[in-house]
Amino acid sequence: MADPRDRLVDDLAARYDFDERTLAALRAVPRHAFVPSVDRERAYADRPLPIGEEQTISAPHAVGLLVDALDLDPGERVLEVGTGCGYHAAVTAEVVGPECVYTVERHPRLAREAGERLAELGYGAVSVRVGDGAQGWPARAPFDAAYLTCAAPDFPDPVRAQVRPGGRVLGPLGDDSQELVLARRTGSGLDRESLGPVRFVPLRDGVAET
Ligand code: SAH
Repeated sequence: MADPRDRLVDDLAARYDFDERTLAALRAVPRHAFVPSVDRERAYADRPLPIGEEQTISAPHAVGLLVDALDLDPGERVLEVGTGCGYHAAVTAEVVGPECVYTVERHPRLAREAGERLAELGYGAVSVRVGDGAQGWPARAPFDAAYLTCAAPDFPDPVRAQVRPGGRVLGPLGDDSQELVLARRTGSGLDRESLGPVRFVPLRDGVAET
């Protein structure tokens, strides 16, 4: 019998035009290790699952869409806004290398648990920080690419400013109705392209208490 993770990725490969690199990254990361133990059996269904603090781990196809859209090369430095449980950061780490991933989470508990989990699973070189991701991570800038795992009205100015000229910014923009927008930083602004409708939890202001 095929491994449930392989079956999920085979199914995603049939439904989406993902690059081999994206598919290999999805195949490599044990999603079950990122979800609460009561949900382990559902880890390889293509759906979001609760991770506490009213947040969710994104559905596998949504993580695949974002990873694929950024078209990352090994060694590119990437900023993630919204660590959640760390799953998406691990998939990105499979592509660029864990030492190239910088991720910011506003919930201290989620950030701490994600950091511990990433370390246990061999992604200890991923840098995790508690903070307001809308401010980016200035001390580690510039990045080759940045992405939001939560929906904002527009790309936060600090995030776009921390991406090098020619670099990419990606994220769900909008509130009730969201679209996934991929932008390339040009000299004077951003060249934007819509990649279609998506549904993500909202970006919230500031750091959460406790
Ligand atoms: N990529 C995650 C899913 C993230 S859900 C995973 O694989 O699990 C979106 C996350 O963004 C949530 O954890 C939420 O707390 C976080 N978030 C929302 N607003 C934020 C902000 N301003 N700064 C940092 N993180 C934020």
